[in-house]
Amino acid sequence: MANYKTQNVTETEKIGFLLGNTVKDGTVVAMFGDLGAGKTAFTRGFAKGMDIDCDVSSPTFALVNEYRGVKRTLYHFDMYRISGWDDLYSTGYFDYLDAGGCLIIEWSENIEAILPEDCIRVTITKTDDFNERNIEIIGAELIEDTCG
Ligand code: ADP
Ligand code: MG
Repeated sequence: MANYKTQNVTETEKIGFLLGNTVKDGTVVAMFGDLGAGKTAFTRGFAKGMDIDCDVSSPTFALVNEYRGVKRTLYHFDMYRISGWDDLYSTGYFDYLDAGGCLIIEWSENIEAILPEDCIRVTITKTDDFNERNIEIIGAELIEDTCG
């Protein structure tokens, strides 16, 4: 487990980048944190770290966005409005899991019981300092030297 403090959106994207840079196919990243915490910002960096050059935005209405890179694809979920099995099946969550894709999931709080046991957990919280965020990562190591 490791904690990182960021002071702006660029720094949060950078932590996301470093994680995206390390993950293998089939990795599931479960993100926790309130509205405006920085989950989508983190995902933007994460996709870049996977070498995917796509516009990343919150899939709040789409429920899932698909970002295709040259080699790999990232599925970006927003589980905010998930309220039952039907919703969940309609997102394709289980299909993507079975297919071994990389998944990153906003509002994992809402699907806690069905997260893979070996998922990486990223929790972003606001601190008392203006614009500061605490990013806790469980289940993966970043190379701290390159965090700047
Ligand atoms: P979420 O997806 O968790 O709802 P977003 O990534 O969409 O959050 O938005 C985060 C908002 O917080 C952005 O408006 C961003 O500019 C702002 N912000 C301020 N400080 C930070 C920080 N340290 N890290 C990330 N975002 C920050
Ligand atoms: Mg978001």
